[in-house]
Amino acid sequence: MTKTFMPNIKTAAELENHQLKGLQWTVQHAYDGSPFYRNSLDEAGVRPRDIRSLEDLQKLPFTTADGLKEGYPFPLLSVPFEKVVRMHASSGTTGKRKVLCYTQKDIADWTHFFARCYEMAGLDTTDRVQIAVGYGVWTAGISFQMGCEAFGAMAIPVGPGNLDMQCQFLVDFGSTVMCCTASMGLLLAEEVHRRGLGDRIKLKKMIFGSERASDAMRDRIQTLLGVEHMFDIPGMTELYGPGTGLDCSYHAGIHYWADYYILEILDPDTLEPVPEGEIGEMVVTTLRKEAVPLIRYRTRDLTRIIPGTCPCGSILPRHDRLLGRSDDMIIFRAVNIYPGQVDHVLSGIDAIGCEYQIIVDRREDGRDYMCIKVEAAQDVETTQFEDISKRISREVKKQIMVSAEVEMLSYGILPRSERKSQRVFDNRED
Ligand SMILES: [Zn+2]
Repeated sequence: MTKTFMPNIKTAAELENHQLKGLQWTVQHAYDGSPFYRNSLDEAGVRPRDIRSLEDLQKLPFTTADGLKEGYPFPLLSVPFEKVVRMHASSGTTGKRKVLCYTQKDIADWTHFFARCYEMAGLDTTDRVQIAVGYGVWTAGISFQMGCEAFGAMAIPVGPGNLDMQCQFLVDFGSTVMCCTASMGLLLAEEVHRRGLGDRIKLKKMIFGSERASDAMRDRIQTLLGVEHMFDIPGMTELYGPGTGLDCSYHAGIHYWADYYILEILDPDTLEPVPEGEIGEMVVTTLRKEAVPLIRYRTRDLTRIIPGTCPCGSILPRHDRLLGRSDDMIIFRAVNIYPGQVDHVLSGIDAIGCEYQIIVDRREDGRDYMCIKVEAAQDVETTQFEDISKRISREVKKQIMVSAEVEMLSYGILPRSERKSQRVFDNRED
């Protein structure tokens, strides 16, 4: 039998038992090893021995990005320094940069569950994985590579950008899997198409990290490259890095590794759990992380739990794609809007391209105005623009319940990026 990286857990009760043990270990470990956590637990009046069931999770205090900032450069460290073997940092300016430490076991755990991503995506050891995400102090490149090697497929570590080399490697090395951001995937697809390389490449699967791929982007990439599957890989530096889950071939939500962390979905205002299936903020608690355990860490990412069992039959629960950040939520005329909602509306409209921008201004009358700039699809005539913009306006009004001006632009006008495209421009002064 081939090696599997899936958990050896068969029932929901077994999973709960596994999570409870991990939770108890984590709270004790953090309490013993980190002055920050000891303080925060003491202040909340919770002792490690008070954690007797999974419901007791709700007694635990939250950890936020401020906790990370406070302990800079090595926040929340819960092991003696000689046990640390690596550090990573998120992109961002000093002060905002999140720095996380890892023990040997943390790296081994991360590598193991990252290999699980490739297994979930249906790869085998003959696959050739072109890794076009960033290498360096951030968590991306090295984790894609270590997971790939542990899984047993061949890693082709290229890094981002350099479309010329990417195209050449696709042809010469017969890469079957491409790992990149969705924006990079689109650039690559357009380049492969422009050079007429479609028949000479063997690409079957794409794994998109670090930003949400809009449906329009996926459609365009699929059309241009003819790949069989496109997967979304979530990940944040605080929680190891990329690879904390993946959608299976049914693409019915992202299976997350509930044997490594507990995911709560909470209302970002009240911090109470939302009803199952409703959108809220992801709050994570790790079960085995040594160097920097997370206890009820508020990620600011918005998503929802997908109820029920996946057609694939996996015991691993699912969350939806990330629908934006609670920080990115635009409060517009007293309505909460996140970019994912606009994206969803646009995905239902044909004749438009993949790029859009949301611009919010406050005008002299003191009122807020929203303008959505949308690119038309490549073959659409400008005479159709008025019709399309009216249709988008109507759908935005209907689905998000706000009025927005819609400006149609010709294909290729909005800037493309190899990293994350900025989509929201909030020009209001606070
Ligand atoms: Zn599944």
